[in-house]
Amino acid sequence: MRVFSGSLATETNTFAPMPTGLSSFKDRGYFPAGKHPKELTFFSGPLCAAREVAAHKGWTLIEGMVAGAQPSGTVTREAYEALRDELLADLRAALPLDMVLLGLHGAMVADGYDDCEGDLLERVRGLVGPNPVVGAELDPHSHLTPELIEHADLLIAFKEYPHTDVLERGIELVDLCAAMVEGKIEPVASVVDCEMIVTVHTSRNPARAFVDRLQSLEGKDGVLSISVAHGFSWGDVPEMGTKLLVYTDGDQAKADALARQLADELIGMREALAVRYPSIDASLDEALAFDGGPVVLADGADNPGGGAAGDSTFILRRMIERGIDNAAVGPMWDPIAARIAFEAGEGARLALRIGGKIGPMSGDPLDLMCTVKALRHDMVMTGLANTPVALGDCALVEANGIEIVLITLRNQAMGTDVFTQLGCELAAKKIIVVKSSQHFYASFSKVAKHVIYAGAPGAVTLDLSTLPYVKARRPKWPLDNQVDLVTATAIALTI
Ligand SMILES: [Zn+2]
Repeated sequence: MRVFSGSLATETNTFAPMPTGLSSFKDRGYFPAGKHPKELTFFSGPLCAAREVAAHKGWTLIEGMVAGAQPSGTVTREAYEALRDELLADLRAALPLDMVLLGLHGAMVADGYDDCEGDLLERVRGLVGPNPVVGAELDPHSHLTPELIEHADLLIAFKEYPHTDVLERGIELVDLCAAMVEGKIEPVASVVDCEMIVTVHTSRNPARAFVDRLQSLEGKDGVLSISVAHGFSWGDVPEMGTKLLVYTDGDQAKADALARQLADELIGMREALAVRYPSIDASLDEALAFDGGPVVLADGADNPGGGAAGDSTFILRRMIERGIDNAAVGPMWDPIAARIAFEAGEGARLALRIGGKIGPMSGDPLDLMCTVKALRHDMVMTGLANTPVALGDCALVEANGIEIVLITLRNQAMGTDVFTQLGCELAAKKIIVVKSSQHFYASFSKVAKHVIYAGAPGAVTLDLSTLPYVKARRPKWPLDNQVDLVTATAIALTI
């Protein structure tokens, strides 16, 4: 069996202030063909899974380019086309093939391309022809366009959010694609658009039970795979939204019925899935009133994983104004302040201008008298599924009783070691503010006594009604819940 694997992935926030260019990929993870390290990286689930299975089964695995960028604004045409063409050239050189396994995200938007993955898969299919099996692993924050489904034989999204199951879903993809090559299965797809946007935190119910139920349905009675595409609300493209994808073994009617049934179940729980986002002051009040600590406040609106800069000051400013101390905040993407801290050295006390540098969605910078408590060159954080996450040169500074982690390479808080490697003792803190929407949870839930998802301003604003959508198909719950009211009124009038 001749198998090819490669990746091209990022999640595009079309409302974010910074474009995504080639250096964004090089900063986060860019490995030319054959250069991917031994360890799993966040975008290389299919490649690492294929290595495991290929070694066991004696397959020939040809490793193409793997590239993934920290989410940001629209990808430049130059970056997308250059990386796409590099991956396609690797694929062409590997022909003939029985199987192609790609690590994609599913929400990548570039200048001139609303659906990069649909474009890429169409070209992949054009290159390999109709016979080889083409499969891809997706992030559930995918738009799951009809083109994606049309040009791939099998798509499997991570089930967990936080995405801790990159390798497990990759192995499922490899196994099912291999079964297809061997003629043992014939996947048919059915997708249902739920016409809504929901957040599916699998760390709690009802999402936990729903995902467990999906897994209990897979692998029997002809059901091959079920994925929930949560959608990515900050990508303004026509196909944005929550979808349910089912593959059965050759039974279209069954796939259609099950996809509809599960989509209806998900629609039925959307109110319960909704996340509560108290205002900054209400979040701080709740944290201070909580008996004990630490209380983790998630600043999801400034989550670099959703395309934000990661340097907003809205929460930190209120903490300082309110005299809140015994707290930690991070990671704050501020290479300039980090550089100055390195120049000053550990133990130095100096005025630093922190955060608020990228634009209005970052708020204003804060001028603080800081003590440089620790410095670390080329720090690496433990990411999801134990993947290494480079943060560059990092500094821990303290001002007004608040310890702030400054990083050089933009990233969200995923492992508690983003703080602890710099000597910031989290267990003793009353409040820990993390720049992250949900991925922080896998690690920080081990130290947190309470978690609050704070509603702050930012490029990943949690108030979707403020986003100036142009392309997203409407109506969509909860953006257009007035439609429900109109319908309800009409029914009332009829009665
Ligand atoms: Zn995601």
